[in-house]
Amino acid sequence: EAALRYEALTVDTLATRLGDVHEVASRVGGEPASWEIREVGDGNLNLVFIVTGTAGSVVVKQALPYVRMVGESWPLPLYRAHFEYYALVRQAKRAPNIAPEVFYFDKPQALFVMEYLYPHTILRRKLIKGERVAHLGETIGQFCARTAFRGSELSLPSPEKKQDVGLFSGNVAIPAITESLVFTDPYYGAEMNHHTPELSPVVDELRRNVRLKAKVQRLLMKFTANTETMLHGDLHSGSIMATDTDVRVIDPEFSQYGPMAFDLGMAVANFLMAYFSQPAHRKDNVLATYQAWILEVIEACFTSFDAEFRYLWQTERTGILFPRALFEEQGNSADDACDALLDEIRLDALAYCGIEMHRRVLSLAHNADFEEIEDTALRARLEARNVLMGQALIMNPDAAREVPALIELAQAYNRQD
Ligand code: ADP
Ligand code: MG
Ligand code: MG
Ligand code: MG
Repeated sequence: EAALRYEALTVDTLATRLGDVHEVASRVGGEPASWEIREVGDGNLNLVFIVTGTAGSVVVKQALPYVRMVGESWPLPLYRAHFEYYALVRQAKRAPNIAPEVFYFDKPQALFVMEYLYPHTILRRKLIKGERVAHLGETIGQFCARTAFRGSELSLPSPEKKQDVGLFSGNVAIPAITESLVFTDPYYGAEMNHHTPELSPVVDELRRNVRLKAKVQRLLMKFTANTETMLHGDLHSGSIMATDTDVRVIDPEFSQYGPMAFDLGMAVANFLMAYFSQPAHRKDNVLATYQAWILEVIEACFTSFDAEFRYLWQTERTGILFPRALFEEQGNSADDACDALLDEIRLDALAYCGIEMHRRVLSLAHNADFEEIEDTALRARLEARNVLMGQALIMNPDAAREVPALIELAQAYNRQD
């Protein structure tokens, strides 16, 4: 069959356009004309369809040539779907059973077809509702460690890794969004910014902090110039789907090569924002126990990252970095080198965490944890705690290097007004 040119799918055209693709039709089952098709994209950027037939369901995700939440005035290349597909395939190898399985990829149509995650729901919604997920922190910490380690030259053959960096460097439009929306816009009056009016005094003071801005730009420099490993790039709680017991990671369209600490920092920031927003979502003893659970998730995330990274260091260190012979010839242990590297990753993760805590209340794409709080005075009070803790993490990550100190810091800001 001749390849189809790009055309944005609709619930009416999807069955015709994908009906004779074996990888799709065999999993959905039945006559394409009778498929049930729903568009469920709640994200900021793309089309997402759930397609159901007599045999089962699949998800079709297709890029649009513009930013969905803004409109056609903000064009965005279709090629981001290609990089999302490349990332999903790599994640499946490096951290099995976390990303959705991909069944089909159509490059010209900027779409791919993947496993339908069910009855999984978006983690952010669960955290707003007060639901618990078993092994959440462990799974995310492990996912970050596996993808960080196995996507780096600690593990990959150097030629393969360098070639992959070359491939991913073709993705310029998506990193540009992170570079401005995450690292730069929060810290000055950028055009697309918005924040809760009552938060203005805190925002003004943050933007006067010149040392903070310099530190954040230095972290941006690492983010944009450092190709240590392949990142997910957008690991917030809206990119995690879960049941009570199963945790999956979706939506790596912001994937790029970057610093090992970035995904870990972003994930923890989203747990912290869930934590700080809780007083608006539940009360009294339920509030305290649920907030305590979120702090346990954060602790598990850091602890399992370190444990898994150390394990891979000992069992899979096959790349050009820290080669065994370099240490073993003199009978040295490489364990101290691993600890030092983990220390650096921890400090950078805390700083990236602080930046993500800022961008979600100051820049363009806010998160529902705070945004759905209707009482703006209360919202601003909770956002202020979050902004100030973020600032502390960027300015002095050392003070939160040990997890108990990080937890105490969060508890202190949670009491502060
Ligand atoms: P975007 O890139 O536009 O943010 P996402 O990949 O985050 O798109 O998907 C948008 C929404 O579609 C998700 O929040 C989720 O509700 C749903 N979704 C995406 N992928 C799947 C999947 N594999 N299984 C079930 N639902 C999915
Ligand atoms: Mg998304
Ligand atoms: Mg647990
Ligand atoms: Mg996305």
